[in-house]
Amino acid sequence: MAADSFDDECDYLFKAVLIGDSAVGKSNLLSRFSRDEFRLDSKPTIGVEFAYRNIKVGDKLIKAQIWDTAGQERFRAITSSYYRGALGALLVYDITRRATFENLKKWLRELRDFGKPDMVIVLVGNKSDLGHSREVDEEEGKTLAETEGLCFMETSALENLNVEEAFLHMITKIHEVTSQKNL
Ligand code: GDP
Repeated sequence: MAADSFDDECDYLFKAVLIGDSAVGKSNLLSRFSRDEFRLDSKPTIGVEFAYRNIKVGDKLIKAQIWDTAGQERFRAITSSYYRGALGALLVYDITRRATFENLKKWLRELRDFGKPDMVIVLVGNKSDLGHSREVDEEEGKTLAETEGLCFMETSALENLNVEEAFLHMITKIHEVTSQKNL
């Protein structure tokens, strides 16, 4: 599997969304994945943003279009159009803030109300570099993921740990689901 440049011809375009409480690290996960950048400041603008990256899965070139809430969740302003057509989601919480884990049920409900029934959801416990301030054990993330039928990973956007893996896992799974549907 390899990343390719933006302009290449692609076989599929997949939309996926980032979701979760404010300040869990969604924007930094996306900038790490799409541009290999990390920002110490918070985001400058409010509004939906997205980024593309081309990924080779087997012999297919997939253009992944990943949407970021860009702060809209702070105002509970995410509308159904954000989820429309999304084949996958990274559902993110912050391992150092228990409230962001408790709120996952609400985000899951929203994903299931507005998203496609076979949407691929990867549960992501971000900020794994801050283990000394941890409020959510890794086991708790795993257990919730098992109960809800999700994939699970802990990541650090700051230290670039598991970020590529989380996105690529989601994209590969989406490819599997869509290929099976098209058989
Ligand atoms: P968003 O509101 O969910 O998009 O979160 P941001 O990406 O804007 O990040 C919120 C804050 O958490 C910022 O101050 C980031 O620098 C910080 N942050 C994001 N990811 C990590 C991480 O993996 N580790 C640490 N230590 N800080 C992070």
